[in-house]
Amino acid sequence: MRIIYNKVIPFKGFGAMNILGLVFSRVPENSMSITTKRHEQTHTYQQYEILGIAALLSLILCNIFASWWYLLGCLVIPFVIYLFGFFMELILPPYHNLSLSFGFVKGEGIVVKFMKLWGIISQAWIDAYRDNCFEREAYLNDHNPDYLATRKAFAWVGYILKRDERRGK
Ligand SMILES: [Zn+2]
Repeated sequence: MRIIYNKVIPFKGFGAMNILGLVFSRVPENSMSITTKRHEQTHTYQQYEILGIAALLSLILCNIFASWWYLLGCLVIPFVIYLFGFFMELILPPYHNLSLSFGFVKGEGIVVKFMKLWGIISQAWIDAYRDNCFEREAYLNDHNPDYLATRKAFAWVGYILKRDERRGK
């Protein structure tokens, strides 16, 4: 893993951005914590595993359809897998936001209702980002000094159906 400290990437509000082990960070030079490094290294392993799946599927598609064009799957399939993890957070229960937030009050206008609904939907998306299986594997284990040595390959898959310990409310 190589860390590039800079003032531009990622956007403000995000701690770090990891592309296959190349990590961009906005924190001051050499000040990334060991916890964050462990978190990012977990993401690096996840990305290698996803790329492995994508490469294998792409080669199979190349063979089936007799065309090298399907190697482009190596670029597309990782995003499909990431979005799958993201949408599983939206689809699978518990639906904490919905139960908390449908606080429509009698007599309030359509605009207020719309704003409330918009708030619920946007919060659900934020939670789905924060709690998708890749993030949960990383943040639930980033304080464990032995995690990277003991981690099982494709550990993130198990977090799709592990519905406790989510941060979203
Ligand atoms: Zn993360």
